[in-house]
Amino acid sequence: FRGRKLIVHIIPFENRRQILVTHDITETERTDMMRRDFIANASHELRTPLTVIVGFLEIAASEQLDAATRQAHLKLMMEQAYRMQHLIEDMLTLSRLESIDHPMRPERVDVHKLLDKVLRDAQALSAGKHEITLEVQGSDVMGSFDELYSAFGNLAANAVRYTPAGGAVHLSWDDTAAGVRFTVRDTGIGISPEHISRLTERFYRVDKSRSRETQGTGLGLAIVKHVLLRHNATLSIASEPGEGSTFTVNLPKALSAAPHQAIPALAA
Ligand code: ADP
Repeated sequence: FRGRKLIVHIIPFENRRQILVTHDITETERTDMMRRDFIANASHELRTPLTVIVGFLEIAASEQLDAATRQAHLKLMMEQAYRMQHLIEDMLTLSRLESIDHPMRPERVDVHKLLDKVLRDAQALSAGKHEITLEVQGSDVMGSFDELYSAFGNLAANAVRYTPAGGAVHLSWDDTAAGVRFTVRDTGIGISPEHISRLTERFYRVDKSRSRETQGTGLGLAIVKHVLLRHNATLSIASEPGEGSTFTVNLPKALSAAPHQAIPALAA
């Protein structure tokens, strides 16, 4: 029991004999701490845009604003409201992914359809500022289309958001000996090695202001992590500051779908 926190109850039983009841609260405490941190971070992230909105509303309520100023204030308030909306959507997605009431229901995922959608979103986000390419060679996969769309979409969006204009983003899908692999490679700002192992923590960002500037919620890679956990998949990150990053997802063979073949392990 070294290093663990236990609650011990000694209960008298049949006059002399005693029963010892112990509860190991190490894990409970850790979960509680994580929950408290999450609530504190989420509250802070929501309070910031709300403060801006309230500030503008107070001005609008107390002063006669000309049409142009009013319009500019409305635009800023809208941006902040969208930011809150985006954050709440990501928080709900994360909580659904963690909930045992929402198990992953594997279906056959048409990889071309999935990655075309991811590509189009990345192109829309880039607005022509990057060269974005896609190469699909691997097989279809068993999994949740929506969850994989959310995970791959987050990785592709990050590649665009953390790559300066003029850079390149390459998406690829290949078969491997162990299953299938999705790779997102960018020529962006890169990540120093000391940050890499913490990137999938909720609200962890290398550079807070850059993440906000590019509409980041700080929850994207936490969502990726949970989707991949539900698909028994792994994420590896290789990066060189100033040169770019490569995010690689490896999905196990049990999830790769051979044409029109039932996969016994997932058939139920
Ligand atoms: P955010 O919404 O802040 O982008 P994420 O969870 O998606 O949150 O990512 C966490 C952090 O990881 C980001 O704030 C950023 O610092 C870093 N990051 C993620 N993807 C990349 C990338 N492709 N290149 C450089 N840094 C990245």
